[in-house]
Amino acid sequence: MEFGFSQKEIEFQEAVEEFLKKELPPDWPEKSRHWPGGYGTIEMPNREMADTAREFRRKLAQKGWFTIAWPEQYGGKAHSHIEQAIFDERMSYFRAPSVGIATRIAGPTILRFGTEENKQDWIPRIANAEIEMWLAYSEPDAGSDLAGIQTTAVLEGEEYVINGQKVWSTIAHLADYAWLIAKTDPDGHRHHRVSLFVVDNKSPGVTIKPLINIVGVHSFNEVFFDNVRVPAKNLIGDKNAGFYYLMTALDFERLLVGIGGFRRFFEELVEYVKQMEREGKPLGKNHSVRVKLAEIAVKIEIAYLFFWRTAEKLDKGQVPDVESSVLKLTTTELSRHLANVTMEIFGPYSQLVTESEWTPLRGMAPRGYLDCVSATIGAGTSEIQRSIIATRGLGLPRK
Ligand SMILES: Cc1cc2nc3c(=O)[nH]c(=O)nc-3n(C[C@H](O)[C@H](O)[C@H](O)COP(=O)(O)OP(=O)(O)OC[C@H]3O[C@@H](n4cnc5c(N)ncnc54)[C@H](O)[C@@H]3O)c2cc1C
Repeated sequence: MEFGFSQKEIEFQEAVEEFLKKELPPDWPEKSRHWPGGYGTIEMPNREMADTAREFRRKLAQKGWFTIAWPEQYGGKAHSHIEQAIFDERMSYFRAPSVGIATRIAGPTILRFGTEENKQDWIPRIANAEIEMWLAYSEPDAGSDLAGIQTTAVLEGEEYVINGQKVWSTIAHLADYAWLIAKTDPDGHRHHRVSLFVVDNKSPGVTIKPLINIVGVHSFNEVFFDNVRVPAKNLIGDKNAGFYYLMTALDFERLLVGIGGFRRFFEELVEYVKQMEREGKPLGKNHSVRVKLAEIAVKIEIAYLFFWRTAEKLDKGQVPDVESSVLKLTTTELSRHLANVTMEIFGPYSQLVTESEWTPLRGMAPRGYLDCVSATIGAGTSEIQRSIIATRGLGLPRK
């Protein structure tokens, strides 16, 4: 067993950090108020930051860092998964605008299961950051149990005709294409009747309606498909095999935990407590505060270890199906724990959202307190992650 990075990995980490310091404004990490593990603050607080984020993403794509662990023949840099993890850790530590669903969920799934035609159609555009996708899985009556979806796709000549409704569709209003599951065999077994498609948002019959999230931000939507015609070649891989592709796509999604954001906020929180101490407010000597901070410190270390271990497993060519659930469960529960502890430490000041001289850490705590609720639901609830760990990890029988 060896803990630590190789010289090549250290140099890559330094290159990423240098890039982030050069290409993001110095005050970006403070201005960008993304709560670790949260979903809610996908929109930039203002126009200037949105423009900076767009420009930053363009530069990342130019460097080939959108798809660093992809094979070179598909526009990647053929870096290891550990290097991908190093990149993710530094990006999230700097609260940098993240790379998207197309690059980290749809793209790797197409590379693994797509036909050659699928790869030619989608991979170059994803690698060049020309398109973004949204995840069209959940429906009003199917979330945890995605095999129970009702949306249908019926083949008519050279096209599939799609009818149904999706919900909780994060960034559907900002993205270009739906990464969609639909039923293609009404009589098939639950796990052999679903297929995966890429559907153009601009297709006639697609209606996107906003849903405002708990933080007050328009981050997700409900989306209706009314006789939407999709070219048959937009089917990914084999017909009726979509449920298995979906399980892998969910594993990829559960790896995107923004690990560095936890360390960044925790450092700010500890510094705040020290600053209070310097100002004569004995927060740092308070037994309860010390114990709570120590507990969080330990949990962050554990989350980091799971994070690196998952990347190592990927580099060995193994599927981290249990690890991705362990990582997702650990980090999202930590997101809630961190929010609770922060609110307790800030006391009555914790409710100040608007920035003022009295507002601790730019009002991140109350926003995070609301935002973190979604962390343990999106990409599969904590109950579902525990169930996966029990069955796939411990070999216990399915209930
Ligand atoms: C912020 C956010 C963003 C999201 N973004 C997207 C998106 O972009 N695209 C998308 O398709 N979906 C998205 N979702 C939806 C998300 O994936 C679902 O909400 C989630 O999978 C749970 O499904 P559900 O809401 O239907 O709840 P249900 O499945 O009805 O679950 C309700 C409760 O029952 C529990 N439960 C259900 N089944 C079991 C079981 N077998 N064992 C134990 N407990 C169980 C659940 O844990 C939960 O507590 C998002 C959700 C959130 C909160």
